[in-house]
Amino acid sequence: MSVKILENLCNGCGACVDKCPFGAVEIVAGIAKFKDNCTGCGVCGKACPNKAIEVTRKAKKTPENKLDAYQGVWVFIEQRNGKIDTVALELLSEGRKLANELEVELAGVLLGENVGELAKECFAYGAEKVYLIDAPVFKDYRTDPYTTAICELINSYKPEIVLFGATNNGRDFAARIGVRITTGLTADCTQLSIDPETRLLRQTRPAFGGNVMATILCQNHRPQMATVRPKVMKMAEPDYTRTGEIIRYQSSVKEEDVTTKIMDIVKNLGHSVNLQDAEIVVSGGRGIGGPEHYHLIMELAEALGGVAGASRVAVDSGWVPHERQVGQTGKTVSPKLYVACGISGAIQHQAGMKTSEIIVAINTDPEAPIFSIATYGIVGDLHKIVPLLTQKIKELKLKATA
Ligand SMILES: Cc1cc2nc3c(=O)[nH]c(=O)nc-3n(C[C@H](O)[C@H](O)[C@H](O)COP(=O)(O)OP(=O)(O)OC[C@H]3O[C@@H](n4cnc5c(N)ncnc54)[C@H](O)[C@@H]3O)c2cc1C
Repeated sequence: MSVKILENLCNGCGACVDKCPFGAVEIVAGIAKFKDNCTGCGVCGKACPNKAIEVTRKAKKTPENKLDAYQGVWVFIEQRNGKIDTVALELLSEGRKLANELEVELAGVLLGENVGELAKECFAYGAEKVYLIDAPVFKDYRTDPYTTAICELINSYKPEIVLFGATNNGRDFAARIGVRITTGLTADCTQLSIDPETRLLRQTRPAFGGNVMATILCQNHRPQMATVRPKVMKMAEPDYTRTGEIIRYQSSVKEEDVTTKIMDIVKNLGHSVNLQDAEIVVSGGRGIGGPEHYHLIMELAEALGGVAGASRVAVDSGWVPHERQVGQTGKTVSPKLYVACGISGAIQHQAGMKTSEIIVAINTDPEAPIFSIATYGIVGDLHKIVPLLTQKIKELKLKATA
C-alpha cells in the first residue's frame, strides 16, 4: 500500500491529521504532508473529504518468469547469547525434508556477533549452507537491523521458502519482512508439505477458532514464508560429522542508523514454568472441579518429575495461571508422557499436545474425545485415581532407591 497527497485537491482541512493513528500527517503551508513515520496504512485516504489522498493498494506481484529465480529452503536460526533456540533445530529438521522433496539446498540464516561457531550445529541438523551475518550491531535482537539485514539477504540470494520459529522475535519481524519484500506469511503453521505437482509449499494451520485446518498457498510471490511454533515439528538426530559451506554476508546496516538502543537486558528471575521442554506433563481441566483440587495435578507431576499444565477452561476459570495453559492459544508441548486429567480433549487442546509420545487420559466420560488419541485411558473419577497414582509412584521410587 502507498499513499500520495494530490496537492491540487488538498485544502489543508486537517481531517487526515485528526484520523491518522500514527500522528504521521501535518499541515505545512496549508497542504497536508506525510512525516517520516507514515506507515502508508491508508486511513487518511478514507478520511479526506476532498479525495486529495491517493491510496494505492495493488501489491507488486513477482513476475511469473522470475518465480523460478527463487531456489532453496532457508531457516532463520534464532540464537541468544550464542545458544541456538531449539525451534530453529526443529525447523532445520523439517526444512531438510522439504528441501529433499524439492531437490534443493537447505540453508540456515544466522545473525549475531561472534556466532560463526554455531554453523556446525546447523550442519549437524541438515543444513548444507549457512548465511552468516556477523557484526556487533546484530549482537542482540532488535527489530529494525534484523529485518533490514534479512531482507537484503533474501533479495540477494532469492530463497523459495523461508521458515521462522513463532517465538516473540520470529513473530515480531517475519511479518515485517513479508511486507518489505512483498510476499505472504502464514503464521503458526502446524504442518508443512510440498505439493508434488506445483512444487508449492502447503502451509497448514488451524483457522476459524481451530474448527477447521486451512492449507494456505503463496502462489504469486516469493519467498513462501511461514512461522511454526516451538515443539510442533520433530527434531531429527544430529549428525556432527556433516559439514557445509559458510557464506559471510556484509549487511549495509550500521549502528548509527539504528534508532533503538539496548541499555540493559534484565532477566526475569521470577518463577517461570518451562512446559515446552518438559519430558512429562500432567494437565488438569474442568474435571478437577476447582482451584482447591489443582494440588492433585501438581503432586502427580512432581512425583513423576514433570511439570503441571492445564486446559483453557481451568485457566479461564482463574484456577491456574495462563503460563500453564496447553493448546492452540497456550503452549505447544510434545513430551514423552502427557497425562490429561478431567480434560475432554477439544480440538484446540489437542492442537497443543497431540504429538506427545504417550498420552494417558483420566476421565469419567468414556465417550470423551481425549480417549480417541490416548495411548492408555482410565475411565473414572480423577479425585480418586490421581492420588492413588501419585501414592503408587512415590512408593515405587522409594523402593528403587532403597
Ligand atoms: C479460539 C479458541 C482457542 C482455544 N484454545 C484453547 C487452548 O489453548 N487450550 C485448551 O485447553 N482449550 C482451548 N480452547 C477451549 C476448548 O475448545 C475447550 O473448551 C477446552 O479445552 C475444554 O476444557 P476442558 O477439557 O477442561 O473442559 P470440558 O470440555 O468441560 O471437559 C471437562 C472433562 O472433565 C471430565 N470430568 C468431569 N469431572 C471429572 C472427574 N471428577 N474426573 C475425571 N474427569 C472428569 C468430563 O467428563 C469432561 O470430559 C479454545 C477455544 C477456542 C474457541
